Amino acid sequence: MILPVVTYPNKILRQPAEPVAFPLSKEIAKLTRDMIDTVRQQDGVGLAAPQVGASARLVVINLEKEGIPAFALYNPKIVSKSLKKAEVEEGCLSLPGIFGMVRRPLKVKISAQNAEGKKISFTDNGWVARVAQHEIDHTNGILIIDLIKNYTKGGEIAKKLKDK
Ligand SMILES: [Zn+2]
Repeated sequence: MILPVVTYPNKILRQPAEPVAFPLSKEIAKLTRDMIDTVRQQDGVGLAAPQVGASARLVVINLEKEGIPAFALYNPKIVSKSLKKAEVEEGCLSLPGIFGMVRRPLKVKISAQNAEGKKISFTDNGWVARVAQHEIDHTNGILIIDLIKNYTKGGEIAKKLKDK
């Protein structure tokens, strides 16, 4: 099921999300499937639960175009990051029309739980690292308009939103 994507300044986007409990409730399992349907339909690379109005530390990553099957992470967090940073243009489904350069650590180690509640961790220095950092920020109420110094598109929209 495709879910409506919440846009800023909806308050849920600024609230730290609630941890996901295990075993996974039917509701969260369905939310995960619906979020994967939604991110594919929106042609996005990632989506966090607050973006569909749910306060849950759940993110989905959709890098199928890079050959990585869509997957979900529960209670994800960055446990270590490289000093080396990279600046990449980012956008956000919750901030339509706004794009800008975001500087983030190039390489991160992420820990999370899978759908069975098993603890997993992995290190990445490519697209997964980039998208995961953006989505984990969402679970902490952080948005790219907090991080962008140079807008490539929609800078005037961002300014208006930030003044609210
Ligand atoms: Zn986003």
